[in-house]
Amino acid sequence: MSTNKNTRFKVPVFIFGDGILGTLIAMEFSKNGIDVVISGSNSNELHNAASLRNQGTLQSGILQAMTYTPKSLNKNGTHLLHLKRAREKFESLAKWEDCIHSEDGVHHVVRSKDQLKEYQALVRMLGYQSKYTKPIGQLRDQLGYFGGKKFQIPAYFNLPDKPMDLDRIILLLKSRSILDSIKDPKLGKIFYLPKSDRTIKVQEEKKAYVISGFAKFKFESDFLIIAAGINSQSILKGINPGYQQKATTRGICLAKTDEGTSFQLKQPFFSRNDVEEKNFIFITRHGNHNIHYFDKLVISNGESFPVDLTEGNSYADLRKNYKEQVIEQHQRIKAILQHNLDEDELPDLEFIFCVLSSDKTKYKELIEQVADTNIIVAHPGLATASLSVAEQVWKKYKGFKTSIQFKKMAPKERIELGEFLDEYLDQLSKKIDNAVLDDDEKSWFRDP
Ligand SMILES: Cc1cc2nc3c(=O)[nH]c(=O)nc-3n(C[C@H](O)[C@H](O)[C@H](O)COP(=O)(O)OP(=O)(O)OC[C@H]3O[C@@H](n4cnc5c(N)ncnc54)[C@H](O)[C@@H]3O)c2cc1C
Repeated sequence: MSTNKNTRFKVPVFIFGDGILGTLIAMEFSKNGIDVVISGSNSNELHNAASLRNQGTLQSGILQAMTYTPKSLNKNGTHLLHLKRAREKFESLAKWEDCIHSEDGVHHVVRSKDQLKEYQALVRMLGYQSKYTKPIGQLRDQLGYFGGKKFQIPAYFNLPDKPMDLDRIILLLKSRSILDSIKDPKLGKIFYLPKSDRTIKVQEEKKAYVISGFAKFKFESDFLIIAAGINSQSILKGINPGYQQKATTRGICLAKTDEGTSFQLKQPFFSRNDVEEKNFIFITRHGNHNIHYFDKLVISNGESFPVDLTEGNSYADLRKNYKEQVIEQHQRIKAILQHNLDEDELPDLEFIFCVLSSDKTKYKELIEQVADTNIIVAHPGLATASLSVAEQVWKKYKGFKTSIQFKKMAPKERIELGEFLDEYLDQLSKKIDNAVLDDDEKSWFRDP
């Protein structure tokens, strides 16, 4: 059956963004019997947020929580609990033996008794008990060079955390949810669109949105969900220059070295804070605890700076615009690393610049309706919060006055769109097989 270019498909909900959040939102709507069409980026746009993907080191949020101080603890307490619940939900999605690993632990070195108390309070809030605190001596071997040659470190935490391969999870979720929605008539259908190399346009027409720019289709929908990470704002501006999301965006610099082995770090995560107060260094080993062996170290001082996304169309532009902050972060990472390595020579480092959107608080989720529109914009803050954010998006959608006018596309249109799913599923299974081998699939190599 051939599809006329000008055919306009009427769909209940159109989603922009096929990262972890867009994928889970599509599944949530499908579960509730609603058909959705979902579009990823075209080839010219900024790619998704780095997630340390493929090195299998997505963290649950515990490490991020360690940057809170006792003062901010009360303010952020609810957020910590949200993180904990969100992580449990995410893990309950399925038994992802291949993608989520057993508790490997984050080794977090502390340097004073006060700091120890502080962390114990945080860890308790996250539901873990003090049994995770241990004397450093037991772990020196696993920490390799970072085990404290020079410093007398009183203790470390071995916090439970689960490295996971996010992009592989996304691919599996996509494939499974498409197949489920084909088999089960109660589920809404999920239609992923083939990648377009044209600019996707959205126009407001009466009360609907008309989405065009795909080689073979045009869509009309009463409802848009934008989960396109750092491109969400530009999609909104494309619809109406006055539309604004409330998200905060931050730039983060990270360094990577291929010489992981020479540091003798035997565990996937490690963080320490013994240079000066609040001056962390996070070191992630991408090694044999993961699905595939990548013996690299990824290093970050966890600091971020505000970024205005309207100031650039690519990572290279942004890096140029924020040159001073970027150089400062590079220098800080080098200095902390040098300090930790004692007299040993600094390895060659490759620096990477990432951008992450969230609510005002770093890593916090944001779900908002753009004023006077039928548009919801969402950011999970942390990938592990995505399932709980998808559920909240669904609740918000249900509360809309326009309500759900219809749930399913016309049968003929469903069949026509469905014809493209076979090819999409084929591509997905190839990507699943090649997930670790294909450079394009690795977040770390997406910049520049
Ligand atoms: C350095 C760093 C470390 C992190 N570490 C962790 C961690 O340890 N644990 C954790 O839980 N989280 C972590 N995160 C956060 C996590 O990566 C993000 O929260 C998560 O990836 C956001 O998912 P998303 O689907 O909202 O956005 P993204 O992952 O950015 O996906 C957006 C999707 O939208 C698509 N898109 C872009 N433009 C368009 C367009 N115009 N139209 C349609 N689609 C479009 C993209 O192709 C992409 O698929 C980290 C982030 C950074 C930057």
